[in-house]
Amino acid sequence: MIPNYKPFTTGKEIEYISEVLANKKLSGNGLYTEKCHSFFRDRYGFENCFLTTSCTDALEMCALLLQIETGDEIIVPSFTHVSTANAFVIHGAKLIFADSGKNTPCIDSDNLEHLITSKTKAIVVVHYAGISCDMDRIMAFANEKNLIVIEDAAHAIDGYWKSKNGNRQPLGSIGHLSTFSFHETKNIISGEGGMLVVNDKQFLTRAEILWEKGTNRLEMERGKIPRYEWVDKGSSFLPSELISATLFAQLESIEFIQKKRLEIWNTYHSALNNWSIKMGISLPTTSCFSEHNASIYFLVCGSLEQRNLLIRHLEKSGICAQFHFLGLHKSPYIFATQHAVSHLPNCERYEERLVRLPLFVDLTLEELSKIIQALLTFD
Ligand SMILES: *Cc1c(COP(=O)(O)O)cnc(C)c1O
Repeated sequence: MIPNYKPFTTGKEIEYISEVLANKKLSGNGLYTEKCHSFFRDRYGFENCFLTTSCTDALEMCALLLQIETGDEIIVPSFTHVSTANAFVIHGAKLIFADSGKNTPCIDSDNLEHLITSKTKAIVVVHYAGISCDMDRIMAFANEKNLIVIEDAAHAIDGYWKSKNGNRQPLGSIGHLSTFSFHETKNIISGEGGMLVVNDKQFLTRAEILWEKGTNRLEMERGKIPRYEWVDKGSSFLPSELISATLFAQLESIEFIQKKRLEIWNTYHSALNNWSIKMGISLPTTSCFSEHNASIYFLVCGSLEQRNLLIRHLEKSGICAQFHFLGLHKSPYIFATQHAVSHLPNCERYEERLVRLPLFVDLTLEELSKIIQALLTFD
């Protein structure tokens, strides 16, 4: 069976992990954490990075940074991972679910106005499959309404947004805060792992404190204070050096990883073009404003029935294709806790019709052509 994904390892991980073990500094914020932070600073201009144990944790840091009070509303897309929503719920926010766009699983940036109330604090956007949301529009809207924007960039490492003014900005550098995932299903992995990027400096001091369990330990390490104390809320968000060492090995290979993934993505995209038109199946649409990172290759079928038949057809050929997120607005948790459950037609369409094809670095050319052949014989 060709799996839907397979974690890729570079071979260097074990060497760096051994070095960490030999140096007897295993806890967080050591040499490899710093190497990863420097990498992100140099490659993407992320000035203020905080490696975390997951993207979920980085999102929770965002919720804590927002200092949510009871009744505060956060706009989140419904078509996303449960963590995008959960992080804010557990810190007391009320969720307002936004629909996907007509032609994109990402948040419908043309229809945000009706979701805003006097209680709205922030908008969370997800760059689904590493294809950027319309960040010009979202940032302009948020600035007009005085809202914080959080980019859940879990899928989006090495993706870019090309602004209408010509700027090419890495995803994760545009919102006030952004979060990444290095879970084994993503492009760059450390098993579990994540990162918070603070772009708006108003959040920086508290982010440092939250990250260090509510203490001002980083200030002590800089020699600014003689001892550290408990000064605010916090938790243990930072990963062990064993995790950071793994992540650094991956980052060193990012060019190779991205090249391979993009090759596979592009091969699907050109091989399936005519077939998809004939079948009434849509391929991912990427605008000239978005430079995606080959995080996911997905098809959007014409109906739920066609999607299920397609998954079964591929399974019979030994290929694992998978649907993806179930709209959070109709989840059992939301049914149980919110009075009004909204109807979000675009999200529901992606929930029913989207299917992900295998996409991983070790996918061989033979496997790739087998998958494409299997698709072309589906009619
Ligand atoms: C994977 C994912 C997450 C969660 O990432 P973890 O690192 O597993 O916590 C959050 N948001 C989105 C959109 C994801 O795809």
